[in-house]
Amino acid sequence: MIFHLLTIFPEFFRGPFEHGVLGKAIEGGAVEVRIHNLRDWTSDRHKTVDDRPFGGGEGMVLKPEPIFLAVESIWPQPKPGRKVILLSAQGRLFRHQTALEWSRLDEILFICGRYEGVDERVAGNLADDEISIGDYVLSGGELAAAVVIDCVARLLPGVLGNEASAVGESFTGGILDCPQWTRPAEFRGWKVPEVLLNGHHEQIRQWRRRMALEKTARMRPDLLDPSNK
Ligand code: SAM
Repeated sequence: MIFHLLTIFPEFFRGPFEHGVLGKAIEGGAVEVRIHNLRDWTSDRHKTVDDRPFGGGEGMVLKPEPIFLAVESIWPQPKPGRKVILLSAQGRLFRHQTALEWSRLDEILFICGRYEGVDERVAGNLADDEISIGDYVLSGGELAAAVVIDCVARLLPGVLGNEASAVGESFTGGILDCPQWTRPAEFRGWKVPEVLLNGHHEQIRQWRRRMALEKTARMRPDLLDPSNK
């Protein structure tokens, strides 16, 4: 799968994709990340990508021209299996279900906003979707795009060492994963739950399911609320 990033800070992405399963997936060729500098699609000597907002107000807004030109030159022809995503605090919330749907695509192009945001004509006429990673404001779309790429890439076949390890994780079955413990069996007087040490697989499976539901009810009751489905 190919991920494209359109950004004014291409150096931002030097670190996030070099480690762990994502790093290996890129090394092995299952995932490719292409970084595009938005300033390459400007035509003035200062490589201007932003301007003041119409109607007044604080800050600057990313101009539509370089963004449209960039996307149209990266993908000159429309093709199924591709999506243009605008990262935005005003977008619909990115969830596990979104990651699953996008893991079936061939390519995703992320537009990373900065400053006060991006001219609304990009959301209205160029992006297939406008996506937020949470109810808070970041200073740029780069971190958000890295989060989304990490989530989607680990769902691709062969990316996780053990294919089964994405199954049963938090959100896959609509609830959180169960809590986990490792050695030592006792640490500073805190003991690992006895049931995990008895080797009785069915008992452990049922207990873990109960723990997962209990933790979901405690930490994320909204996930168990049928009106949120
Ligand atoms: N003025 C905008 C607002 O209040 O909605 C915030 C702009 S923010 C400072 C600059 C850029 O960061 C946005 O254009 C977007 O690309 C990115 N960004 C900020 N918060 C985000 C979030 N929760 N999810 C995804 N992208 C976000």
